[in-house]
Amino acid sequence: MAESDALKHEHRLIPPTLQFAQHARVSGMEAYQALCAEAEQDFEGFWARLARENVDWKVPFTKTLNEDNAPFFKWFEDGKLNVSYNCLDRNLANGNADKTAIIFEADDGAVTNVTYKELHAKVCQFANGLKSRGIRKGDRVIIYMSMSVEGVAAMQACARIGATHSVVFGGFSAKSLQERIIDAGAVAVITADEQRRGGKCLPLKSIVDDALALGGCDSVRDVIVYQRTGNPIAFKEGRDIWLQDLVDKQPLDCEPEWVEAEHPLFILYTSGSTGTPKGVQHATGGYLLWANLTMQWTFDIKPTDVFWCTADIGWVTGHTYIAYGPTSVGATQIVFEGIPTFPHAGRFWETIGKHKVSIFYTAPTAIRSLIKASDLDANVHPKSFDLSSLRLLGSVGEPINPEAWMWYYKNVGKEQCPIVDTFWQTETGGHMITPLPGATPMTPGSCTLPLPGIMTAIVDEAGHDVPNGQGGILVVKRPWPSMIRTIWGNPERFKTSYFPEEFGGKYYLAGDGAIRHKDTGYFTITGRIDDVLNVSGHRMGTMEIESALVANPLVAEAAVVGKPDETTGESICAFVVLKQARPTGDDAKKLALELRNWVAREIGPIAKPKEIRFGDNLPKTRSGKIMRRLLRVLARGEAITQDVSTLENPAILEQLKQAQ
Ligand code: ATP
Ligand code: MG
Repeated sequence: MAESDALKHEHRLIPPTLQFAQHARVSGMEAYQALCAEAEQDFEGFWARLARENVDWKVPFTKTLNEDNAPFFKWFEDGKLNVSYNCLDRNLANGNADKTAIIFEADDGAVTNVTYKELHAKVCQFANGLKSRGIRKGDRVIIYMSMSVEGVAAMQACARIGATHSVVFGGFSAKSLQERIIDAGAVAVITADEQRRGGKCLPLKSIVDDALALGGCDSVRDVIVYQRTGNPIAFKEGRDIWLQDLVDKQPLDCEPEWVEAEHPLFILYTSGSTGTPKGVQHATGGYLLWANLTMQWTFDIKPTDVFWCTADIGWVTGHTYIAYGPTSVGATQIVFEGIPTFPHAGRFWETIGKHKVSIFYTAPTAIRSLIKASDLDANVHPKSFDLSSLRLLGSVGEPINPEAWMWYYKNVGKEQCPIVDTFWQTETGGHMITPLPGATPMTPGSCTLPLPGIMTAIVDEAGHDVPNGQGGILVVKRPWPSMIRTIWGNPERFKTSYFPEEFGGKYYLAGDGAIRHKDTGYFTITGRIDDVLNVSGHRMGTMEIESALVANPLVAEAAVVGKPDETTGESICAFVVLKQARPTGDDAKKLALELRNWVAREIGPIAKPKEIRFGDNLPKTRSGKIMRRLLRVLARGEAITQDVSTLENPAILEQLKQAQ
């Protein structure tokens, strides 16, 4: 892949402030490099040291890594531990008992504080309640809830008794839920009567009823219902039980189930940007280690921080950086029930001021939509709020366009807060490539360098390393503790999807394309491998063209896809959302021409979209990611026959179908 001009231009290096660097847990590039060198020199010794220092083991491990049955790697396999013990009990022992664990900010702005002692008691009662229904180690439990203290407690309670949870995002349909219940063979579903979002009450329990009524869910014996809104719901005697009745009178303590390090902590179905969701299975010991360590390295977490990750517990980000990471380091965190635009699009900024949030972690999709909103209404612009408590910002979920990065850096971080652009996946369990905030000079749009011990590389189709400056396929050459262990019930698919034969079955294939900067060696994710464009023999990632479009002051969001073309092999079709209302007719034609020329100037004539379509939005997964595979079908003028169960806004497809 030829390095485009746009990426060559993007080589600004913005160092962390001296103040930040001086007090950081990993302070300066030498400290980062020393950790990397330690991992290079003694890979297993490095991980063993960290696992001993950061995780409490009931039975210490003696074996660090077992590669006998690669790619089914085992980490710390003869050790025993409990995740909930590591997140809760150890905070009671080390003086954090009365520290606030969770600040729950409800949709309507009501606030509930929960200390570590209270959370521990809640989880123990919950765990005892689950045990009273016969739920045991190894059983699978579906959690279908919205953001709540109870949602986090449900996950921790499962971990405490060794049950494997599978959280299903509360926006999924009955059909999607049913498929996941069946695939996981779940014995119980934990849900709520309803959820509150954006001032509305939305159903949860009735969707569980529908899912179970679709059939095939005979494994489910119990449906446990947390009462959130109190509106009437149907109740099936014998099967359904209120959470309150389940935990009432349960003892406030529950001896943790000590499980083997490889015991499956959870299964999580991926968000579905590229195809049918896969049940990604994670282990206990390695996952916990990485959740804990990345809180320290990437987020530089300190005892006084107020941490806020805006993800939902239905996504991996909400697992690692809400349920497990922050609690395992004894942090105070916000759990937010609402949405970024209710009651107004300044809600994030207002909430940061209200709770003195110091570390804020969100997704590019949210940033882009808030840029659009604050361009239209100065009252919801970050400058209208007190953001002085912030010291660190983070981004996750998609590549962040340099334009959006700069806006975030200037308007939210006031040029004082480092931004950690964290590249990772459901399958990786935690961060893989990211700046360390007190060490790495940042480049907008680049996730910079891999974390110590993470052996990422870029290879060509034959698996050979490509030189810096030349794009290729992102792989990880060595296993790491928090990696996916298998696809639940489908080890074959695990092998072929992630350790393909083309690379000798040895490299983990991330599925993303990337390029390293010639001088710095920094990684930039160029888009999904499946989305690479090939125009007249020039290979281009979707990311750079989209970023060029977003750099135009009129554009809020953009997605580009390839479409077969007789002369150029493939031509570029761009779907664009403007900050202003969607243009039609001649206005649309005029703007399309303007934007086509803009891209030609920014990147080069080769990257000029042949066609531009304007929409009010783009098709997105329920986690807010652009679904380019659907746009590809629309660009070709074909009918959509693919899996759209994870699509958030089906109505938008109709609008984008029409060429201008
Ligand atoms: P599916 O695997 O079902 O298609 P998904 O890949 O969207 O869904 P996730 O595991 O939530 O599911 O997302 C991981 C992907 O998100 C990465 O492979 C990458 O494409 C993208 N991503 C996440 N963070 C970043 C980042 N900081 N920069 C660039 N891309 C990112
Ligand atoms: Mg993926």
